[in-house]
Amino acid sequence: MGGTGGIAEMSVTQSEALATLHRVFGYEAFRGEQEAVIEHVVAGGDSVVLMPTGAGKSLCYQVPALVRPGTGIVVSPLIALMQDQVDALRALGVRAGFVNSTQDFDERRVVEAEFLAGELDLLYLAPERLRLENTLDLLSRGKISVFAIDEAHCVSQWGHDFRPDYLTLSLLGERWPDVPRIALTATATRATHQEITERLNMPAARHFVASFDRPNIQYRVVPKADPKKQLLNFLREEHAGDAGIVYCLSRNSVEKTAEFLSRNGVEAVPYHAGLDAGTRAAHQSRFLREDGLVVVATIAFGMGIDKPDVRFVAHLDLPKSVEGYYQETGRAGRDGLPSTAWMAYGLNDVIQQRKLIQSGEGDEAFRRRAQAHLDSMLALCETVQCRRGQLLAYFGQDPDPAGCGNCDTCLTPPETWDGTVAAQKVLSTVVRLQRERGQKFGAVQIVDILLGKRTGKVIQFDHDQLSVFGIGEELAEAEWRGVIRQLLAQGLLAVEGEYGTLVLTEGSGTVLRREQDVPLRKEPKKPVTSRSGSSSASGSGRGKGKAAAAELPETLVPAFEALRAWRAEQAREQGVPAYVIFHDATLREIAMAWPASVAELGGIGGVGEKKLATYGEGVLEVLASLGGQPGPAPDQAPDGTPAQGSGRAPAQAPGPQMDGPDDWPEMTEPEPDWI
Ligand code: ADP
Ligand code: ZN
Repeated sequence: MGGTGGIAEMSVTQSEALATLHRVFGYEAFRGEQEAVIEHVVAGGDSVVLMPTGAGKSLCYQVPALVRPGTGIVVSPLIALMQDQVDALRALGVRAGFVNSTQDFDERRVVEAEFLAGELDLLYLAPERLRLENTLDLLSRGKISVFAIDEAHCVSQWGHDFRPDYLTLSLLGERWPDVPRIALTATATRATHQEITERLNMPAARHFVASFDRPNIQYRVVPKADPKKQLLNFLREEHAGDAGIVYCLSRNSVEKTAEFLSRNGVEAVPYHAGLDAGTRAAHQSRFLREDGLVVVATIAFGMGIDKPDVRFVAHLDLPKSVEGYYQETGRAGRDGLPSTAWMAYGLNDVIQQRKLIQSGEGDEAFRRRAQAHLDSMLALCETVQCRRGQLLAYFGQDPDPAGCGNCDTCLTPPETWDGTVAAQKVLSTVVRLQRERGQKFGAVQIVDILLGKRTGKVIQFDHDQLSVFGIGEELAEAEWRGVIRQLLAQGLLAVEGEYGTLVLTEGSGTVLRREQDVPLRKEPKKPVTSRSGSSSASGSGRGKGKAAAAELPETLVPAFEALRAWRAEQAREQGVPAYVIFHDATLREIAMAWPASVAELGGIGGVGEKKLATYGEGVLEVLASLGGQPGPAPDQAPDGTPAQGSGRAPAQAPGPQMDGPDDWPEMTEPEPDWI
């Protein structure tokens, strides 16, 4: 075996890596860039790896750590998740451990001794600990195979996940010049990429950039009318019994939304920085361990959550940037099964975010950057083109020009109309108020004037005397709000001050002088529901894990459910998350293949040596208890591809939006949970 020449050695590396993949992880083949990354790391090279969530970053350092002599040191900012990560590895027969502040002195000593004795394949540490002199000293006394720097974007000062201690990781290369380093992140922007390379001092690193497409995630944006109700309908119709995350901007709306869902039969828990650490940890742990729990959260929740079966991510408020949106929605569907990224978006989102930037902290440069981020996000919301295409283009990657076929604009192409005259009416009203009266008003008053409504406030200010009073009766209130929203999004109108009053921009003049046309997206008039034709697989649509079972023939759903029930039992007994036992994708494959022997079961993706030994008999017993493999159902479509979105009528209801003015977004991160 012992290869001496370059080529021979490479192939030894390759076959060793592949053998490890089969034996330990039970997977057939490497995916995408994994093989190239692993080969490079095993050979001792530094790497910077950019891969979207779910692409399989962990294997990129786990396999080298198993193939190279010594212990792989994994630097991760999230101590709350280390226990689960280590449990998952141990379930695969990997000798993994962690050192952090959740352990007492003795527990720590045991792990340190294991490391020094060369009995660990992987050791997880937080950067705060790694930095300490006695940790560095400990590491120098053992043998290290590789340094993996996970969530490497935490080194970026511009990102919202900045962790100062990441900066000190640049010393690893100086202190251990012969140990390869691999930095990994799912953040795709070029600027972050560059920062990682510079700040971690990895000038010689090879760069691996995967496609950022997540084809199994269906992207959808609905006009916001009554967001909590819209969310409830969406969950009832498409994700009953599924695990998912709902993002809100403020603590207040997190609490209210979680309560609302629970009251309406959707089990949901809140998560935000205002809750004490114990409650937060308990809710996170429930989310990881239970099937089908919904977490309603601010952005304080989510980084490093590697639960594979998150079936939906819903946004009730507009994210501040496309990066944020991509990160958050990316937490859905790591297992590759169909998932939904759903967002409700409306005029108040635009006003609120624009106001926030103006009244927020930071200098002019900071504000400009925030503004640019918001503009890109708004463009994504207002696009009439493929949303996936727009996302990929944002990250500098080439989209399919024909569209993706799995986003709302591809499934139900929105209509556009020439909104130039409507835009002029809005802008003229703003101009009149300002020039003739020296007044500035918000969107509600402008719309009332256009519609010719004699409200108390209209009469109080004599606005029924303006020449523009009642010039907009051809459109409904919701449509006018849509016009204003799109003008704000396009920068043809701006908001100002504490009350979000509307003011003109430089672009407004070109519209008023008719030097520029204003194509607009049509506001759907349908009432609030998101009727979907998605119940393809099971008739009931209410069962647990409906989406996960979506691609299974109906006759196999009982087997899948029985396997899930068995898995839940195992997970409870061992106190680990269910996916540590087997992923949904593996259970589905088992139901499809219906293995008759332990050997056959071993051929299924995700069933490695250790899991086969631990659970093989148990799985076969579950299948046997079901009384044999069912025959195919005559009327079953062979690939029950879920027909999500077809026939769906996007929602919009007339009437003002409900966001309360006192609903302030969460601005502070939770106190760190890694200390
Ligand atoms: P990331 O860290 O990039 O988000 P993970 O490492 O958590 O992704 O992997 C995502 C999922 O894909 C996991 O369920 C993992 O077990 C699975 N996976 C990774 N690589 C492979 C592979 N080569 N074959 C099959 N499944 C894989
Ligand atoms: Zn598309």
